[in-house]
Amino acid sequence: MRISRIEPIPIQIPLKAPFTTAKARQTVARVVLIKLQTDKGIIGIGECDPRPHITGETIGSALIAIRDYLAPALASFELSEISDIAKICDRMDEVLVSNPSAKDGIDIAVHDALGKAKGIPAYSLLGPKERGVVTSCGFSDLGTLADAEKDARAYRELEGNAFKIKVGPSWDTDIKRIQAVRSILGSSIDLIVDPNQAWSVEQSIRILKNFGNQFAVCEQPVPWNDIDGLTRISAAVDVPVMADEAVWSPNDAAVLTQLKGADMVNIKHIKSGGLHRALEIAQILGKEDISCMIGSTTETGISSAASAHLSLVCPHLKYFDVAPPTHYIVEDVVEGLDWRGCIVKPNEEPGLGVRLKEETARKYAI
Ligand SMILES: [Mg+2]
Repeated sequence: MRISRIEPIPIQIPLKAPFTTAKARQTVARVVLIKLQTDKGIIGIGECDPRPHITGETIGSALIAIRDYLAPALASFELSEISDIAKICDRMDEVLVSNPSAKDGIDIAVHDALGKAKGIPAYSLLGPKERGVVTSCGFSDLGTLADAEKDARAYRELEGNAFKIKVGPSWDTDIKRIQAVRSILGSSIDLIVDPNQAWSVEQSIRILKNFGNQFAVCEQPVPWNDIDGLTRISAAVDVPVMADEAVWSPNDAAVLTQLKGADMVNIKHIKSGGLHRALEIAQILGKEDISCMIGSTTETGISSAASAHLSLVCPHLKYFDVAPPTHYIVEDVVEGLDWRGCIVKPNEEPGLGVRLKEETARKYAI
């Protein structure tokens, strides 16, 4: 089987409510859907989530990356065996550096298409299954105290395992939200605090030494490129520190591991350029017994399904920070992902196991 066409389709879906972190405020999810066609008539679907404040990409840059570089480089490329996936990822890296979400969309579509061709679910293309289901984290963005309390109450009803809260600009306000959420969730649900790179090293050490006993993990407190700062924080405090924007590639994971720069890593396929590289990162971390979280963005069920498949094979998976897509977007463009409360189970259908709702996708086309 060979790749015959890669079609990028830009869409924009409104969010139910604004999504705010220390880095950005979003009101829509801008996504590029990918339809990857093969000469055997199989169509794989994928999703690019270019986020200017995370990956440095926009809808426009992702479209150009795919149309002018990635799709031509993969024209007639062999896609018959699992080993072809690595060759496709290498080819994409050869013709274009960075642009991870553009590559991610194609990587996801490749897994969907090959799974369909072989009649097996996408996770079994990645590796041996380590678990059958995953529990998704609860979440509260940088909103009001009342918003955080409402989100925490809703998640407590689902009896999940972890809840993430965005913090950042004002610790006096943030600690009140953290304490309120903590008292609602009780002690059996881990609390993950994510300042999204908003703190300095000194501020991080001070806050984590004084308040670190109030939560289970602190995610990416300092800017993504301050690896030295992240390492100093990890060494100075007892609360586990999780790297997010500091880890993009398997090489980043290897360097951070060697430096003992973090206790955990948030792996996102939009950062790594797809599931194949995301799993490579998890395997590097796994060898050093560093656990990981699978993260997400404001996305459709295609990206979420891809994350769910990845989560089944990831070594040392601690958290699955992916919410049901319609928690954020007003309507999903796919159906088929089995999400009950906070328990997610990729189905055993070939590929990603989700079906594109063509009419809905057209409705949000831009
Ligand atoms: Mg984060």
